[in-house]
Amino acid sequence: MEQVRILIDLQEVMSQARRLEEEKRKIPLEVSDLKSLFEEREARYLATEQEFEVLRQQRREKEREIEEERDKVERAKAKLMSIKTNKEYYAMLKEIEGTRRSNTAREEELLALLVRYEETEKRLAEQKADLDEVSARYRERMVEVEARMGSFDGDIGKFLARKRQVSSGLEPGLVRRFEMIFERRDGIAIVPARNSSCTGCHMHISPQLYNLLQREDRVHTCPNCNRILYYEAAGNEAAGG
Ligand SMILES: [Zn+2]
Repeated sequence: MEQVRILIDLQEVMSQARRLEEEKRKIPLEVSDLKSLFEEREARYLATEQEFEVLRQQRREKEREIEEERDKVERAKAKLMSIKTNKEYYAMLKEIEGTRRSNTAREEELLALLVRYEETEKRLAEQKADLDEVSARYRERMVEVEARMGSFDGDIGKFLARKRQVSSGLEPGLVRRFEMIFERRDGIAIVPARNSSCTGCHMHISPQLYNLLQREDRVHTCPNCNRILYYEAAGNEAAGG
């Protein structure tokens, strides 16, 4: 039966397209580990960068304070010359001494800050190198993956063209029905009937329908699974094991 032969061809072409679609769907999963690694390294680097920025601001602020206090001491020293009374003079000296002491404490703080600043700067550079390396690997992989996806698209396109060509020999209504069964029955829309059974769902077929199938005059479907049936002699089953 011509129609059955075309439908079997159609199923083969559609199955190949479907297999390619499935393989294509799996490709992005292959890069997902590398993608999470990249995201993790990027997040780590950005956190350190932020930490470094805070330290840079604290350092700048501390240096500015020290500079201001030094100026204050210099101005006070200059003023000392014009002071007339001993009382005022000693009060001013005391003030200068106080400013100097608090500035010494500030310088200690600045030193501690500089240690952290340099440590963070070094860590930031290491993390940057690491991020660059992972990011380059990730980009390279993405280029490969996109190329593969593109070649899959080309192959799928060829099968879809072949599908159009094969189905041009059939009634459009039958093609639509076939496609619907193909989707609902996991890519198997046409199956042989053997030993009075549907090989798709293994249900027994009535003798009346089995007879109709053997006469091969039109397309029949399994009353249980709705797949299109065609007759295959029992001998084929025995030969196939
Ligand atoms: Zn069936």
